[in-house]
Amino acid sequence: MAVAAPTLLDGRSLSRSVLDDCRSRSELLAERFGVIPHLAVVLVGDDSASAVYVRAKERACERAGMQSTVVRLPATSGTAAVSDAVGSLSADAGVHGIIVQLPLPTGIDPAAALARIPADKDADGFHRYNVGSLFLGQSAYPPCTPEGVMRLLDHARIGLEGANVVIVGASNIVGKPMAVMALSREATVTVCHAKTQNLAAHTREADVVICAAGSAGLITGDMVKHGAVVVDVGINRLSDGRVIGDVDFESVAAKASHISPVPGGVGPMTVAMLIHNTVRAAERSVGLSSPHPGAEKTGSSTGSSTEVS
Ligand code: NAP
Repeated sequence: MAVAAPTLLDGRSLSRSVLDDCRSRSELLAERFGVIPHLAVVLVGDDSASAVYVRAKERACERAGMQSTVVRLPATSGTAAVSDAVGSLSADAGVHGIIVQLPLPTGIDPAAALARIPADKDADGFHRYNVGSLFLGQSAYPPCTPEGVMRLLDHARIGLEGANVVIVGASNIVGKPMAVMALSREATVTVCHAKTQNLAAHTREADVVICAAGSAGLITGDMVKHGAVVVDVGINRLSDGRVIGDVDFESVAAKASHISPVPGGVGPMTVAMLIHNTVRAAERSVGLSSPHPGAEKTGSSTGSSTEVS
């Protein structure tokens, strides 16, 4: 049975409304408390893709009426220098959210640098306290990419209760937290990874496929059922400069009911959630706290990896 043209899960447009909401909250913080939410990014080396991502985060901060600072360090910096830079930002009461742009140049231990970010400035949602809180359904700072996916689904009114959700990719920053979030919405969750036998047998059973493998064109039309919702988290840079996802858009769009594009799907939502987490941190720093991540706009029950595409 042929399905009509799928609905696009448009992260670009939804991210703008998230950022506009953040702007209203920033203005309120400035008026009432004289506080401007402030995101600090530690950027090490001169990786061109990282520079593009960081610029996108700066632009998002501008749109949200926030302050941003980029601390640039040379690629030759050692782990101690990067950790010290993070430590200084952690001690700065005027900074509300901190991220270290990944990947770091070879030789710098990302775990050591990330460990210096306190849980209450953890804009990326990577701190072990926040990861544990997510597991318990109480995270104040959910990881940005999976939370961005949840927002996209919520906005399209795609409920997960009772749905078969298949997640392709099991990383700590995308696949695993995505699985916890879908489970907390009462989905039946399957997590696939590189060692999964017969991936297609799993994806064909899915009402919702969320792919975060980093493998261009991995999911093709014959691997999804008619009417499936397909969310493409992947970002793959081709030698000709184009950026494509993990999903073969044309063949999958011919069968899906909803599909997220790359670029313009999950990427902008990831950045929006980073900004959102920073505004929350600023609110909490003055004693304001919203009931739950995502509750302000979409009713998400929980909450970079902050890549943009
Ligand atoms: P990662 O740490 O490399 O993890 C990739 C996961 O996918 C692993 O669990 C791996 O399995 C699995 N995998 C790889 N190839 C597979 C295959 N052929 N079949 C099934 N599973 C496979 O990557 P990540 O950080 O999670 O990122 C995943 C993708 O999302 C990348 O393209 C990244 O650029 C993109 N991303 C996008 C955003 C955004 O904002 N849009 C944010 C973050 C990441 P094993 O565990 O067995 O190795």
